[in-house]
Amino acid sequence: MSNPSILVSGASIAGPALAYWLGRAGWEVTVVERFDRLRDEGQNIDVRGAGREVLRRMGLEEAVLAAHTRETGMDFVDEQGQPVASFPAGTDDSSGGTAEVEILRGRLGELLHDLSSPGADYRFGDQIAALHDDGHGVDVEFHHGPARRFDAVVIAEGLRSRTRSLLLGDAAVHELGLYVAYLTIPRTDTDDTSWRWLICDRSRAVWLRPDNVGTTRASLGLHSAVRGLDRLDRAALVTVLRATFADVGWETPRILDALDDAPLYFEALGQARFPRWSQGRIALLGDAAYCASPISGLGTTLALTGAYVLAGELLGHADPRAGFTRYEELMRPFVEQAQQLAPGHPGELYPDTEQQRAELWDRLRTQAAQDGDWAHPPAEALDLPDYAMTAR
Ligand SMILES: Cc1cc2nc3c(=O)[nH]c(=O)nc-3n(C[C@H](O)[C@H](O)[C@H](O)COP(=O)(O)OP(=O)(O)OC[C@H]3O[C@@H](n4cnc5c(N)ncnc54)[C@H](O)[C@@H]3O)c2cc1C
Repeated sequence: MSNPSILVSGASIAGPALAYWLGRAGWEVTVVERFDRLRDEGQNIDVRGAGREVLRRMGLEEAVLAAHTRETGMDFVDEQGQPVASFPAGTDDSSGGTAEVEILRGRLGELLHDLSSPGADYRFGDQIAALHDDGHGVDVEFHHGPARRFDAVVIAEGLRSRTRSLLLGDAAVHELGLYVAYLTIPRTDTDDTSWRWLICDRSRAVWLRPDNVGTTRASLGLHSAVRGLDRLDRAALVTVLRATFADVGWETPRILDALDDAPLYFEALGQARFPRWSQGRIALLGDAAYCASPISGLGTTLALTGAYVLAGELLGHADPRAGFTRYEELMRPFVEQAQQLAPGHPGELYPDTEQQRAELWDRLRTQAAQDGDWAHPPAEALDLPDYAMTAR
């Protein structure tokens, strides 16, 4: 009997992690990615708790630590760049606004791709056009490549996955009302090793983060009731961002200047809260299934642990449908905890008035003085199963 075949759609974090485990176990793995290359955009992401344990089991922890962004902590600053409240990086598997494992998203994606590619066939620049599950397998049509049949299909296309609608109809994302523009800009002498964050009035924020590749990662955040900014084309988006942040001081003019040419990734933050993660032989994974948003500090941890659990359950069940069911049973309680944001978040960090900002700064000063810990997300709230596949 031939090895089972699987199609994974999406080559960022969750998709390649799943491809690694299944390819290593001898499955015939195909990964299809809409973009014509691995995507490099984005900023620092952190891997915590159970996610870090998955990295260890993949033999990747050392390589990931070697690619650390060198970020040493978070400083909330005022318009002169003076610290208002400071929080050092975490010193264990799970704590800190800056976690102990902090890596550029693009670099982690590259490491996972390189680790998985000996056992997986990557197809860039294509995507699923149609899926037909007849109970014994899934016939897949692609936009470009020839149609093929697989034993199972996993959609790991991120929060705004379009293929997901083939399973869930028009199930809506839970919008958080927060937009973030992530840019990569030239590093200057004023940039240091901390994540510097200017909270402004009118629900805006600007931040700068160091990276380990000689550039600086800048962001513009806006909390707004307006919907659809993420659907603007780049020229229109740049116009909106320049108008919205025109009066903001500190390093903001430098970021606005870079908007024309800098690598830019813009997203509307939201959470995926769906009643089920699979239908027949087709399942959702990572942000496409259960995005908790960057605010949770656990998006990548959930992607890595979900991929590990899904692979373990698929390998442990002859029928992929049974594996999908067990994967959801194991992961859902963890996801539900991760999706519980602190009360008032994200709006709490995006005050409307100067007065509200002053009150927020006071709270941050108190928090920094009391325990010095910015965040301790529930990254260990999953008892990671010990699957046979991890034996090296
Ligand atoms: C370019 C980019 C930058 C990011 N930057 C940050 C950041 O700065 N901070 C942060 O906290 N999180 C960021 N994220 C999100 C973060 O990677 C995820 O929250 C988390 O790691 C879970 O990853 P995922 O693999 O489930 O989904 P994602 O990382 O969202 O990856 C989804 C992948 O699927 C691909 N895709 C989408 N639609 C299709 C389709 N129809 N067919 C085939 N492929 C498709 C996408 O191009 C992407 O490669 C970013 C994601 C991306 C894609």
